[in-house]
Amino acid sequence: MDLELLRTTLDQAGEPSYRFDQAWAWQARGAADWEAMSDLPAPLRATLSEAIPFSTLKVENEAVSKDGTIKVLFSTHDGRPVEAVLMSYRDGRRSLCLSSQSGCPLSCTFCATGTMKFGRNLTAAEIVDQALHFRRLGDVNHCVFMGMGEPMMNLDNVLAACELLPDLGITSRRTAISTVGWAPGIDALAAQSRPIRLALSLHAPNDALRSEIMAVNDRYPIAEVLAACDRHYEARRRMTFIEYVMLAGVNDRYEQAVELAALLDPKRYKINLIPYNPTGSPYDGSSRAAIDAFQRTLEANGIGATVRLTRGQDIAAACGQLAANALAG
Ligand code: SAH
Repeated sequence: MDLELLRTTLDQAGEPSYRFDQAWAWQARGAADWEAMSDLPAPLRATLSEAIPFSTLKVENEAVSKDGTIKVLFSTHDGRPVEAVLMSYRDGRRSLCLSSQSGCPLSCTFCATGTMKFGRNLTAAEIVDQALHFRRLGDVNHCVFMGMGEPMMNLDNVLAACELLPDLGITSRRTAISTVGWAPGIDALAAQSRPIRLALSLHAPNDALRSEIMAVNDRYPIAEVLAACDRHYEARRRMTFIEYVMLAGVNDRYEQAVELAALLDPKRYKINLIPYNPTGSPYDGSSRAAIDAFQRTLEANGIGATVRLTRGQDIAAACGQLAANALAG
């Protein structure tokens, strides 16, 4: 919901300022509509429902995986695709994967979003509305900016959304921003005060390979990006999670694991190996055996690594896939 519009509408109606807090509190607790806001006078509810769309996003498509993962494709008022995912785990974790942009201006070769045309930055309201959609279905408690787009290229709106997420049940400690390594954004994240987790999509242990699969590496090479992550660690004292998507025959060899381990200080970095979700790109995901071997080599060389659980594969839940499929057909 456009909260600025809510505030001006309430002001113009001569309402006291606590009405804003009441309306937002209902939203953040997952109210289904204006009608549900029973401590607002009925005429005010009617005024608000006339003046303000309940969400800035329209649901275009919803897919539910057999593992319970829910993926939604939304559209903005100007017809831009936006996707978000809810993953539920047995330990009670209910984790949202949110988009920061419609499409992405970068073009990482393995990523489905990178093959779409870039649309635009999402507003803070469009980011929060993704989360509110799932909040209306039940509790939410974790969030990662790993949907469409590069959050560091829209950091002001991402951080404005992060100011509101705690009201929905998602604290900043349980929020992670994932970046291709946009160094100025990493420094900006270090300079603000919320304890938001930093995740870096590294995907290669050296510049030659990284530039091949992530063109952004020519602009911000590995040494520069890791220096920014180190500054973030010094400022915020939170480890950086390294994301490493496992591509068969590309970045999954023994020597590459050794090189990766040598690059990273285990006190500051933890590695998350990501099984590749096939997207119709030229890449194949590494086999389970290759991923396990890579993990063992990292551990033997002194750095912790986990393997991410694969979720929602049957509903094309990889970054950009639902929107790319919808656009294709
Ligand atoms: N632009 C940001 C956030 C969006 S992508 C970033 O790159 O970090 C979130 C993560 O999903 C990134 O690590 C990205 O490399 C990874 N990813 C993209 N396509 C994928 C696929 N098909 N399978 C698995 N992970 C993928």
